[in-house]
Amino acid sequence: MNVMDIFETMEYGPAPEAANPGLDWIKAHQPFGLFINNRWRKPASGQYIESINPGSGKTLTRVAAANSADVDAAVAAARKAFARWGRTPGHVRARYLYALARGVQKHSRLLAVLESLDNGKPIRETRDIDIPLVARHFYYHAGWAQLMESELAGYAPVGVVGQIIPWNFPLLMLAWKIAPALAMGNTVVLKPARYTSLTALKFAEIVQEAALPPGVVNIVTGEASAVGEALVNHPDINKIAFTGSTEVGRSIRRATAGSGKKLSLELGGKSPFVVFDDADLDSVVEGVVDAIWFNQGQVCCAGSRLLVQENVAERLFSKLRARMERLRVGEPLDKAIDIGAIVSPGQLKEIQRLVEQGVKEGATLWQPSWACPTEGYFFPPTLFTNVSPATTIAQVEIFGPVLVAMTFRTPAEAVELANNTRYGLAASVWSENINLALDIAPKIKAGSVWINCTNLFDASSGFGGYRESGFGREGGKEGLYEYVKPAWEIDTTQEAASSNGHVPDASAEDTTSLEEIEAGEEQSTDGWLPPIDRTPKMFIGGKQARPDSGYSRAIYGPDRRLIGQVGEGNRKDIRNAVEAAHKAGGWAFGTTHNRAQILYYIAENLAVREREFARRIVEQTGRSGKDALTEVQATISRLFSYAAWTDKYEGLVHRPPMRGAVLAMPEPIGVIGMACPDDYPLLGFISLVAPAIAMGNTVVIVPSQRSPLSATDCYQVFETSDVPAGVVNIVTGERDLLSKVLAEHDDVDAMWYFGSLEGSKLIELASAGNMKRTWVSYGHSRNWLSREQGEGQEFLREATQVKNIWIPYGE
Ligand code: NDP
Repeated sequence: MNVMDIFETMEYGPAPEAANPGLDWIKAHQPFGLFINNRWRKPASGQYIESINPGSGKTLTRVAAANSADVDAAVAAARKAFARWGRTPGHVRARYLYALARGVQKHSRLLAVLESLDNGKPIRETRDIDIPLVARHFYYHAGWAQLMESELAGYAPVGVVGQIIPWNFPLLMLAWKIAPALAMGNTVVLKPARYTSLTALKFAEIVQEAALPPGVVNIVTGEASAVGEALVNHPDINKIAFTGSTEVGRSIRRATAGSGKKLSLELGGKSPFVVFDDADLDSVVEGVVDAIWFNQGQVCCAGSRLLVQENVAERLFSKLRARMERLRVGEPLDKAIDIGAIVSPGQLKEIQRLVEQGVKEGATLWQPSWACPTEGYFFPPTLFTNVSPATTIAQVEIFGPVLVAMTFRTPAEAVELANNTRYGLAASVWSENINLALDIAPKIKAGSVWINCTNLFDASSGFGGYRESGFGREGGKEGLYEYVKPAWEIDTTQEAASSNGHVPDASAEDTTSLEEIEAGEEQSTDGWLPPIDRTPKMFIGGKQARPDSGYSRAIYGPDRRLIGQVGEGNRKDIRNAVEAAHKAGGWAFGTTHNRAQILYYIAENLAVREREFARRIVEQTGRSGKDALTEVQATISRLFSYAAWTDKYEGLVHRPPMRGAVLAMPEPIGVIGMACPDDYPLLGFISLVAPAIAMGNTVVIVPSQRSPLSATDCYQVFETSDVPAGVVNIVTGERDLLSKVLAEHDDVDAMWYFGSLEGSKLIELASAGNMKRTWVSYGHSRNWLSREQGEGQEFLREATQVKNIWIPYGE
């Protein structure tokens, strides 16, 4: 045997990390209590749940099982603390966050060991990835606390936040939730996952050490049915932030619908890992290891679908099998292992079930020749080839170390396969041709796209999903908006509760007549001629369309005089409009300059018909001519604003601590369904349409039910302003009924609703089907004339979602 042979055959020796510091800490603290008001207290129920070490299958300790009385106490503590913390100067909050970051670093090794013991992750990952990212998250958000007053001027914290986190990245998810919430002045009640509470409890000690004011951070352990649901349904919680399965996310969406609670959901995924034939296949193999065997594949954004260009597929599969044969599964505290333990027997069984299903469905299974340890919960790295795209294993999130591979021939086919999922969390694109990679990345519907890399995370770059992967972002400046609301909303909350959602007419005293503003306009001809009937139709796919129902809806003025008839839209009209809006999807790919030009052009054409539009407003609302003219002029100004924003709402380039850049690009959401407010029939309509189309979306809009004629008049303006067919579609009729159809429609990507509280709830409930993003008014009114309330970045944010494209550089 020569030296070469020795190297080839040499077994890895074990490199164990000592478990004692973690076990000693557990021993010194058990039985664990609940952390409320910076103090430890026993659970009201007197009950405890077991915490198991997945690496051995043995009991580690027991943690408190809270009930709703404990949740009430924690929420009350957070509410009390919010009164001061919400007003604490940013600089002071920054100091506390900095102290938390420091605290995490001081205890980093203990945290890493505890995390591996409790979750089964390899110590290499907890030590080198999870915990450093946790510290970085607190540092980064200390900066935002400092800058909040200037960079988020006009925004206020939302209040008390209920945060529910999963078991796959226990401490990292805690940091993703707590750091931005505290930075923006909120207080929190956090529920760790039942399986993995220990690092959250250690973090509670760090909170004490940092001397945070009591009640700012509360940690309540226990079962989902007791703690999770109590948080979701608690009347004194202002926002729920959740990470976990899509099914639970859906139930939380339903439970909070209409409550006015802000909600962010980070849910499941089935992320594509796309390999083109010019990719560096050896790098690809290492990429796959990180994509699907990192954290045993229990990663929401795991690259679980390997899509390979056909001509290199077999070559890649054989390299991959060789690499899999050398992966090591075993004791999580051994620094020489690659894959640790699955978190629980239940999860292990689910993985086994899905793998059996894959075999039954005819896919080809490959696993390494070696066997996994028998103590603890382990599963070998697994590769499926010959997978058909519609099968269960190609569609369902397996949440384990299981990779399913499919092939494609052309870039277009790759995109189609990549998007053939109900999820949209992340994607990786591998090619040595940067032009190809940068062409493909924007076409994949996912919140993060990694080019020639995978599973990269940083506090500076927002993370979150498209489609059923949820909504909201964590990290980056965009993530902060999940924890704030416009300050003016706080002032109007009381007002809204007592009003019916109608903006008081500021100029009710003004009696300027239409005739006065029309002085000098055309005089009537001699003799009487009946007026030519003008039938406002719907506007679908660039064409004026009659309603499918064949019915019309009478529109009366305030004096009960009939002023027109509009089509009574139904489900079929909405379906046609959504189809037309989809066909116009090319609008998103035009240049921003071109979109800006068209918005200016709409303004220009509206200005030519200013008086006619003012007259229509008077007819419908009975407001004064001067007031109506003010509305038209404000509408023109609004169109100018969004024409200006079109090429200036550009996104950011982040600089995470690596050689490379992250492009955070706001992208259109797609087809947005909209229901207009009744106040300001023209301005309300344009205030919704303009930001959405400025950002490249197409819209299906239901005008004010009471005063739809200003909106239907607009289609003539659109027709003369080069707005492409299908970009704006108008369906008139009963607002709530049509809105519900839009909210339920699988091909509508987001829904904006400005109407009643009941209608808002209806929309949020209906949207749960495909987890579309919603923006509803809960019956609150806005002053649409005000620039602060009626336009700006709040609208642009709702019209976009941020995609992060990671581009490492250097050889
Ligand atoms: P869940 O979504 O059930 O759990 C996530 C968190 O939500 C936990 O803290 C859980 O509490 C809590 N929770 C569960 N039900 C409710 C409820 N009705 N109301 C409020 N809170 C609730 O995920 P699981 O742990 O059951 O994992 C199941 C599957 O979910 C996985 O196989 C995977 O596919 C997916 N998943 C996705 C994650 C992601 O990061 N996107 C993370 C984890 C899982 P408790 O722990 O006490 O049950």
